[in-house]
Amino acid sequence: MNVLVIGSGGREHALCWKLASSPLLTRLYCAPGNGGIAKVAECVSLKPLDFDAIVAFCREKDIGFVVIGPEDPLVNGLVDRLDHEGIKSFGPSAAAARLEGSKGFTKDLCAEFNIPTAAYGRFSNAVDAKAFVKANGAPIVVKADGLAAGKGVTVAETVEQADSAIDEIFSGRFGAAGAEVVVEEFLDGEEASFFALCDGKTVLPLATAQDHKRVFDGDRGPNTGGMGAYSPAPVLTPELIDRVMREIVEPTAAAMQKRGTPFKGVFFAGLMITKKGPQLIEYNTRFGDPETQVLMTRLQSDLLPALIATHDGTLDKIALGWKDEVALTVVMAAKGYPGDYVKDTGIKGLDQAGAIENVQVFHAGTRADGGRILATGGRVLNVTATGKSVSEAQATAYRAVDLIDWPQGFCRRDIGWRAIERERG
Ligand code: ATP
Repeated sequence: MNVLVIGSGGREHALCWKLASSPLLTRLYCAPGNGGIAKVAECVSLKPLDFDAIVAFCREKDIGFVVIGPEDPLVNGLVDRLDHEGIKSFGPSAAAARLEGSKGFTKDLCAEFNIPTAAYGRFSNAVDAKAFVKANGAPIVVKADGLAAGKGVTVAETVEQADSAIDEIFSGRFGAAGAEVVVEEFLDGEEASFFALCDGKTVLPLATAQDHKRVFDGDRGPNTGGMGAYSPAPVLTPELIDRVMREIVEPTAAAMQKRGTPFKGVFFAGLMITKKGPQLIEYNTRFGDPETQVLMTRLQSDLLPALIATHDGTLDKIALGWKDEVALTVVMAAKGYPGDYVKDTGIKGLDQAGAIENVQVFHAGTRADGGRILATGGRVLNVTATGKSVSEAQATAYRAVDLIDWPQGFCRRDIGWRAIERERG
């Protein structure tokens, strides 16, 4: 079978790397891909939102299955379009992707089906939103309703901060994504992520992970797309995973089915583990980045049949095996990220780093220029290692990081610190 992966980040490199080992695969394409993906797939310059060009390519290359990485094409209906054309794909319809595309939609669904999440209000004007903040006090969380690339959320420590976040959202800065505001209760606890496949009715748990959103060591500095991750996340014990399945993910799948918009794809549940138990912070309706990099390095089974089963409604026939090991990934970013940074700087030492046992270097923002690899994005490399413990995986990952010669790059040196503290007791 010929497979097309849509996207260009470290997530897509990890997906392509895993799919490349599938016995079902004939040819693997990635659109648009990157400098690292080019080693395992044929990169094609299609834009993820150019649906006509994607359909034409699928016809030309006899693509049997399309795997969609990022949220934008999902929310904009790429799966619906491919379905209409008779082309199978992995991901939710636009109606089901609203779980990620509209925070208000998800909050209302949680309220209707008793799914544990922060108390909230939904507002389409600043006056009412501010009255809600005044009535509830700080700390409180203010969110733009739609997709804002992680920039639409303010955890406000004071009422003034919450008010200015409301003004900012209604100023039009986020376009249509800021037409509504969700204001919600501040949840106290440790965050973790849970991933599960769903074929519309059956939910198949994948694994847990924890990422590191802040740019600097010690969880300081501005938020980013994620500076590193590891899997599994020990905070999610087997008992808690059971509760997440029973109280959050399975009821969501049932609710979406009941509403006539069954969810097919991957649930990426952002959770807060509070004293009362796990609460849903948000859903993403695609694989996480950089969490996919650690999930794929732990997955022993073939990924492709599982993804196809989510489309075909046959997930009940799939059982996945996982390595009984920890995987940890360190994100190397261009200096200045998440602010301005210089592009097209040269990276050396990738082969030496990748040659270390139990190490995979995924590319997140690179391009190949002849024999050289150049950095093109903010987040550029995901240096991923497995080990018997988080401490061991971390030591191996940083050994590989230290072989990469890229003076214009940086990374956090403490990825996995929470789990390592736990391991040390
Ligand atoms: P991203 O895509 O970057 O995960 P997002 O814009 O989709 O972010 P959320 O995940 O809803 O938004 O929120 C971003 C972060 O804000 C969360 O990871 C969490 O740290 C914090 N946060 C969100 N909601 C709450 C809450 N109710 N209580 C405490 N912290 C919260």
